[in-house]
Amino acid sequence: MNVVPDLKHDFPLRELNTFGIAASAKAYVRIRSVEDLQVVRADSTLSAMPRLVLGGGSNLLLTRDFDGLVLHMTGTGMAITGEDEQYRYVTAQAGEPWHGFVQWTLAQGCPGLENLSLIPGTVGAAPIQNIGAYGSELAEFLYAVEVFDFITGQSLTLSAADCRFGYRDSIFKHELKGRAVICAVRFRLPKEWQPNLRYAELAAELGVEPVAERSAQDRPAPTPRQISDAVVAIRRRKLPDPAVTGNAGSFFKNPVVSAAKRDALLAEHPALVSYLQSDGSYKLAAGWLIDQCGWKGKSLGAAGVHERQALVLVNRGGATGAEVLALARRIAEDVQQRFGVVLEPEPVLA
Ligand SMILES: Cc1cc2nc3c(=O)[nH]c(=O)nc-3n(C[C@H](O)[C@H](O)[C@H](O)COP(=O)(O)OP(=O)(O)OC[C@H]3O[C@@H](n4cnc5c(N)ncnc54)[C@H](O)[C@@H]3O)c2cc1C
Repeated sequence: MNVVPDLKHDFPLRELNTFGIAASAKAYVRIRSVEDLQVVRADSTLSAMPRLVLGGGSNLLLTRDFDGLVLHMTGTGMAITGEDEQYRYVTAQAGEPWHGFVQWTLAQGCPGLENLSLIPGTVGAAPIQNIGAYGSELAEFLYAVEVFDFITGQSLTLSAADCRFGYRDSIFKHELKGRAVICAVRFRLPKEWQPNLRYAELAAELGVEPVAERSAQDRPAPTPRQISDAVVAIRRRKLPDPAVTGNAGSFFKNPVVSAAKRDALLAEHPALVSYLQSDGSYKLAAGWLIDQCGWKGKSLGAAGVHERQALVLVNRGGATGAEVLALARRIAEDVQQRFGVVLEPEPVLA
């Protein structure tokens, strides 16, 4: 009989979540391969437990001790796996750190992911919420996802269409929640690379016009490396480093509202920050809404709102998950009361 590798009981998770919440897992195992998952699934005690798949713990709020089994995805490896006329195909294992993977693709001469530089976490978690930043989203480059279905024990490959990506959303948050373990991700990176400078702040950092079509007078287009460096520089300036101050990045999704709702809000609040979406709806800047409610820099117990980024909740030292959750609820209530807009948490609550 196969033995479950490195099985631990009452395992501390504080070092494994970027909020730095001191919670523990009833059982914990490191997963390096599909074979490890098969061994765990064959164990009747472990397979009957509630499961939490863990990557870098950077999009997770542990609200209490986890009374179940943590499957910590630690398998690494990345390779260029093929090419055709238009694309290069690259595969990375789930436990590979995301930023290191992006840097590796650039070093291999396979650009495309540079706008997503320095997002914390692992490759395997990236499809869960279709990570996005600086005008780019994972879904634009994802080719397929290799998944282990913990319920059936089958390995399967999902195409990008199968993943049903949306804004911070995918099938892994719905039908496949709790059963799909992502083991590897395959990417499709365009050979004819174009800089993505749609995001005005990024273009400004690079000293170029924030448009896709560039005029002849423009300076030469920035290179993928320059774009990655600019994204890194902006992120370092704007976001608290989880190694110093516990946080999980944006705590709330930017709410999407109808044009009628946005117009009504704009009439009352002329400074409202909103972005038109392709379907005619509007995305509101959640950080602006929170800031207007006076929460920036405030605290509730040891949980707080970052001084510069109202969207980022922080652990000011020794915060419990329950404290962070209580703060998030108070903020969401205030925003709902003042603007009639519902804020949804972005991190997974466990
Ligand atoms: C400072 C900071 C900045 C951030 N900036 C951004 C940003 O710009 N854009 C953005 O989109 N996100 C951002 N995030 C959020 C986070 O980095 C991403 O969501 C990231 O993809 C989470 O990866 P992780 O490995 O840490 O996932 P975890 O936190 O470990 O897990 C998150 C969820 O994914 C599930 N999961 C993890 N791995 C797997 C797997 N292999 N198979 C199945 N399920 C899995 C978990 O069960 C959990 O539900 C930021 C976070 C921080 C702390």
